Amino acid sequence: MKAGGSGSDGLGPVMKPGCPACARIEKIRTGTDPHFVCEMRESLLVVHKHQRYEGWCTLWLKDHHEHLGLLERARQVRLSEDVIDVAGAMHRSLGGGFGDVRINYENLGNVVSHVHWHLIPRRASDPNPKATVWVRPEAETDCGVSDLKLAELVAVMGRAVRG
Ligand SMILES: [Zn+2]
Repeated sequence: MKAGGSGSDGLGPVMKPGCPACARIEKIRTGTDPHFVCEMRESLLVVHKHQRYEGWCTLWLKDHHEHLGLLERARQVRLSEDVIDVAGAMHRSLGGGFGDVRINYENLGNVVSHVHWHLIPRRASDPNPKATVWVRPEAETDCGVSDLKLAELVAVMGRAVRG
């Protein structure tokens, strides 16, 4: 992918230099991101880099836009379908004990402005199941994930999304 182009004129998607999400997408496109699960309609599905809330995934819009509400309507709809499909996959796949899960859907952009969604499985056994993860201690949201668990989650989510 390259910077420039409108994304709809055949010149390729628009990427923004300096955007960490665009850099991440470039890495995914080179096949070197172990968090990458699969390409969806408008987004790329990845397993989040911190897994205290097991199954946490993010969906990154394939090109650089900063406001969900300013995307063309058809793209908004397709992106919503991506979110819905991943949520369904989570409910079906993360199994054992996942029945008590509520998925938190978060589209923020306060830190990384590139349009993206967090889908965060929340369980009754969470330290504070009624609080958003963003107000929890860093030990929970900045905890990393083992290579083994990451590979397992990427495989599980991949199978589930493909149905
Ligand atoms: Zn970007």
